[in-house]
Amino acid sequence: MRAFLILLARNRLALAGGIVMAVVVLLALLTPVLSLADPDVTDTSNRFQPIFSEGALLGTDHLGRDLLSRLMWGTRLSLAVGFAAAIVAATLGAAIGIIAGFYGGRTDNIIMRGVDMLMAFPYILLALAIVAALGPGLFNALIAVAAVNVPFFARNIRGITVGIAHKEFVDAARLAGLSNTRIILSEILPNVVPVIVIAMSTTIGWMILETAGLSFLGLGSQPPQADLGSMLGEARSALITNPHTSIVPGVMILIIVMSINLLGDGVRDALDPRLKSGALSRPMAATRVDRRWPVPEPVGKGLLEVQGLETQFHVKDRVYRAVGGVDLHVETGECLGIIGESGSGKSVTALSLMGLVASPPGVITGGAVHYDGEDLIGAPYGRLRDMRGRNVAYIFQDPLSTLHPLYRVGDQLIEAIRAHRSIGKAEGQAKAVELLKAVRIPNAEQRVTDYPHEMSGGMRQRVGIAMALANDPDIIIADEPTTALDVTVQAQILTILDDLRRSRGLAIVFITHDFGVVAQLCDRVAVMYAGRIVEEGSTEDILQAPRHPYTARLMACVPELGGGKRRLEAIGGLPPVVDKLPEGCAFADRCLKVRPECRAGEIPLDRVGDRKVRCLYPEDGAREAAE
Ligand code: ADP
Ligand code: MG
Repeated sequence: MRAFLILLARNRLALAGGIVMAVVVLLALLTPVLSLADPDVTDTSNRFQPIFSEGALLGTDHLGRDLLSRLMWGTRLSLAVGFAAAIVAATLGAAIGIIAGFYGGRTDNIIMRGVDMLMAFPYILLALAIVAALGPGLFNALIAVAAVNVPFFARNIRGITVGIAHKEFVDAARLAGLSNTRIILSEILPNVVPVIVIAMSTTIGWMILETAGLSFLGLGSQPPQADLGSMLGEARSALITNPHTSIVPGVMILIIVMSINLLGDGVRDALDPRLKSGALSRPMAATRVDRRWPVPEPVGKGLLEVQGLETQFHVKDRVYRAVGGVDLHVETGECLGIIGESGSGKSVTALSLMGLVASPPGVITGGAVHYDGEDLIGAPYGRLRDMRGRNVAYIFQDPLSTLHPLYRVGDQLIEAIRAHRSIGKAEGQAKAVELLKAVRIPNAEQRVTDYPHEMSGGMRQRVGIAMALANDPDIIIADEPTTALDVTVQAQILTILDDLRRSRGLAIVFITHDFGVVAQLCDRVAVMYAGRIVEEGSTEDILQAPRHPYTARLMACVPELGGGKRRLEAIGGLPPVVDKLPEGCAFADRCLKVRPECRAGEIPLDRVGDRKVRCLYPEDGAREAAE
């Protein structure tokens, strides 16, 4: 609640609207205790007194009644009717929507067709018809306004409820033996209340206007009772000769509706968690580049040469150094593994290569990524887009979130191809089937028309791979593609990747936290810790003799089949937070062999032949021997 108020207050317009609204409501509440003239006493000798005249601050109307008093009492009445109508409409509409959405089937059909019938009439006509049937009067106007707004709430809430009614937590409640009523009250309602509040806060203003409209036509409040609409209606005949009689209620209506709408928008923004996290602020098409020093030249001649890549997240006044100077190189047809704990910067490194890190907050602050001799960091967006998918393709961890839930997988494959070249319908279909066959999906001809939710996790990940293959890329970057899968499926996916690599000459950058996977697939492996590479070498060398204590400890965490009984050692402590990296070795706090020197100054990545280690005292003591 406090967080909500703080967020609301941060929105200047909403705050202003809230303050104005609070003042108006307060005045309306205080009206009976203020010493105002009687709003209904006529005094025809003092008709049409102007504003600021003696004894009548806002003047008098055509019957000599005090306008200030009528305005206050009228505002009170209009607000009360508007709020009451909103609450009635929201309660009824929400109840109808929840029941229709929760029970579904025939209940849903009958209720919603009824709602549709109400919606088929224009708002104000329907309200007029209802008042005509019930007879004029403020209470009947309230009923009419509430009734015409019920369908709006019912539709809205039904939509939300349908989305929630089959979520896992509702199924769990059902399995726990809760009755439908209990489920609706304890599981569904809390999830739709924010939506109800949002819908209400944005429609109250509208309902006050509708009530005023009915009163204006003489169907709402009856003389001598004042509400804002009837005041306007009575002043209509003197609009030209004595405009202040119309302006006074008119300005009040404007103030009320404006402030309610501003406040309503603010409430909506503050209640929507996606807006809170800034997720609706649109990221730029490519990561922002702000390189502080000159672009390094590529050292090797590999297909992909990464030098000193630095990616940071600038959040408010904090700087998270997610990637702090990473060097990588990948040859054609080679498989490079990147391994490290969660949070070590693997994904950010991979996304930086093609400028895919969301900006804001991501910024690439240094380094170069040479693809076939061309620097991609800072390349124009058009060039990057052209290369994404065609030269460098990605496979992500969770294919359910990368595949569009509402399109058939075949169509999504065709779309991936179309992003880079135009292709006919039949040809596209054939190509989609061919791709599915390439990733060994059985019955590819039938599966091509499946929706993602009709496939198992392993199948979906195969589709993810097929999509990455769609444009025959040279490099596939696979970011933990098997982490969400079980072991047998993981083995199948790895075999597919390995075969594809050999048959198509693909280079693969395989990101994982599992040494078993690295051993199966990769030629070379780079170990990452706190945004930097701490060790690199051929898979065989590293598996046989890890040099960096971190690598050694990572491997000690992996159980070995047939390796006899061995204690599995977890690494104590946590990786450092990347906005406060310690000086010296980032692993020092968790290292068993740490010495004072480890905590001072930059520790270089030492190269011995094909092997690189960022440690002063590597495991086999090779460095000490060399010195
Ligand atoms: P992993 O190795 O598990 O793939 P990531 O590359 O996703 O790790 O993350 C590296 C670091 O970057 C983490 O410490 C994470 O907290 C930080 N990070 C990632 N995205 C953001 C972001 N949008 N804002 C701030 N920090 C981020
Ligand atoms: Mg990751």
